[in-house]
Amino acid sequence: MTQTIQTPEQQKWLTKLLGYTYEIHYNPGKENVVADALSRVEESPIEGECVLLTFPVSSLITQLQSFFSTNNAGTKLMQKALHDPKMQQKFQIKRGLLYFKNRLFIPKEADLTNSLLQEFHSSPAGGHSGIQATLARLSATFYWPGMHKDVKKFVNACSVCQHNKYSTHPPYGLLQPLPLPQQVWEDISMDFITHLPPTHNRSCIWVIVDRLTKFAHFIALPTSFTAASLAPIFITEIYRLHGAPKTIVSDRDRVFVSQFWRALFHHLGTSLAFSSSYHPQSDGQTEVLNRCLETYLRCFVSDEPQLWLRFLALAEFWYNTSFHSAIGMSPFEALYGRKPPNLVHYSPGTSKINSLDELLTQKTQVLNVLKENLTKARNRMIIQANRHRQDHNFE
Ligand SMILES: [Zn+2]
Repeated sequence: MTQTIQTPEQQKWLTKLLGYTYEIHYNPGKENVVADALSRVEESPIEGECVLLTFPVSSLITQLQSFFSTNNAGTKLMQKALHDPKMQQKFQIKRGLLYFKNRLFIPKEADLTNSLLQEFHSSPAGGHSGIQATLARLSATFYWPGMHKDVKKFVNACSVCQHNKYSTHPPYGLLQPLPLPQQVWEDISMDFITHLPPTHNRSCIWVIVDRLTKFAHFIALPTSFTAASLAPIFITEIYRLHGAPKTIVSDRDRVFVSQFWRALFHHLGTSLAFSSSYHPQSDGQTEVLNRCLETYLRCFVSDEPQLWLRFLALAEFWYNTSFHSAIGMSPFEALYGRKPPNLVHYSPGTSKINSLDELLTQKTQVLNVLKENLTKARNRMIIQANRHRQDHNFE
């Protein structure tokens, strides 16, 4: 592109094109009759408007760069990475930073590991997750030797975690596994966390989970609600993004769920008759999610419990970006086919842009891996659960 950018339209198109790999073909006006009409749209009246592209840079990056350029240990390490063939095999240097297998290398001497542990475990984005989830979140971007041990030590010593831990007791009733969903957001579960400290007339959380990807939405509900009053909320919060589900699993009774279906179809404007069938089954996963969410909120609002509403959106993103052992990845990755973004992007200007083809293949692969993991997890869970559960006969 050697042509000078002159008009606001060109500015706008340039920023759009920056994200793509593309070729520009020039068709002389005479040969391009159809497109010509489109490209002659009246120009915007705002003259000289310039689009500003901005992005935040983590202070961690600048600290690291200055460590490698001014600190004694830092420059030594950088020199070694430049000249030692053994290190060259494993490390790359980009913009004055060291990368180990595409992860930002954090030398112990840089004295940054503790603030990273803090950020990736104790912040609302870190969510006081367990060892495995904290490690997964951290190691997606960073690496240092002994990271696993450090995470373990940090999490085990976290006073907030210790203070808010819950106790588990084995539930009754043998587990009846649900059939595996085949597509995202076709089969959902909905549960309710009730009796929260009332704030802004809200005292309940509606937890809606896609049973395939485990992706969830947390919706604050008014203190009193009915199945019918939930339908418009469902359309605004779920249908808007994912469409209508095929099946719903819920902790509510069949009358409630049936009324909900009816109201939903009514609001969607379909008059086609339907009847909802009822299968009392559970996948045993929502209890776990609800407990996780409650623990998360408790970790951040234990001093002022009525602040839970303010943390709900953060909790949702935290949950969706946390490593989920049943699917072997985070729900975010399962749904979107790519790793979740960090709060701050730590590698400025180094992101690789995949072609659409690559992205689509990646997405299909993710979905296949996901289904495999889910089947494995389900089998594991049935064996585990039934070992701890008692078959209850109500006679
Ligand atoms: Zn913690």
